[in-house]
Amino acid sequence: MYINEQLEEIRRSIREAEKRSGRPEGSVTLLAVSKTFPVSDIMQAYNDGQRLFGENRLQEAQLKVPAMPADCRWHIIGPLQRNKVRKALELGVELIEAVDSLKLAAAISRIAGEMGLVAAILLEVNVDGEASKHGFTPEQLCAEWDELSALPHLDIRGLMCIPAPTENPDDARPAFRRLRDLAEQLRARGPLPLPELSMGMSHDFAVAVEEGSTIVRVGSAIFGKRDYSGSAAGQTR
Ligand SMILES: *Cc1c(COP(=O)(O)O)cnc(C)c1O
Repeated sequence: MYINEQLEEIRRSIREAEKRSGRPEGSVTLLAVSKTFPVSDIMQAYNDGQRLFGENRLQEAQLKVPAMPADCRWHIIGPLQRNKVRKALELGVELIEAVDSLKLAAAISRIAGEMGLVAAILLEVNVDGEASKHGFTPEQLCAEWDELSALPHLDIRGLMCIPAPTENPDDARPAFRRLRDLAEQLRARGPLPLPELSMGMSHDFAVAVEEGSTIVRVGSAIFGKRDYSGSAAGQTR
């Protein structure tokens, strides 16, 4: 299969899942996760109309962003160290997806302020409560919400999660629901509208769409199996 055929297939599955769950067509954005894949592969997706791409590591994004046409939009979806925040904002990334602590959020707000920007972010939530995972626990997020939502140079667009891998895509459903419910709870508390829910990857994006995802992050189902040994490659978490 070629990248354009896989993209068409995924777009079709997203439309079907939107329809099945009574959501308007086009309510879900496809983020093509290009980490570890070369610019030549990313160009194939570009030539099939894809404009939104996700990279895990800032260093890799710094190589790829300038190598791709300027109308591409980029999300950083991996953990971001505080000392790389300025570089991420300088690169012009549209959304920093995996903000996992108040400390990091405060650093992004401060640096964005210094640069005269408002930085768009998502807050990563640890929806399975595994001690080893990144992200706010739901309790922590609720406890820190007033402080987070008051940070002046941040546009907190919503929540994201990376649930533990499951054999059956349906088994991720409770985790997706927990993220959706948490967003609803925070919306009710105010003052932010939190329009985005970034959830669902290659094997479970259809289930995530049924549960209200607005951004699905799909890598291997578009580009094929990842090889972490190459030079453009990075470590996943
Ligand atoms: C790699 C990655 C993805 C894409 O995973 P696939 O299973 O290849 O679709 C999505 N989200 C994050 C945060 C990732 O690191």
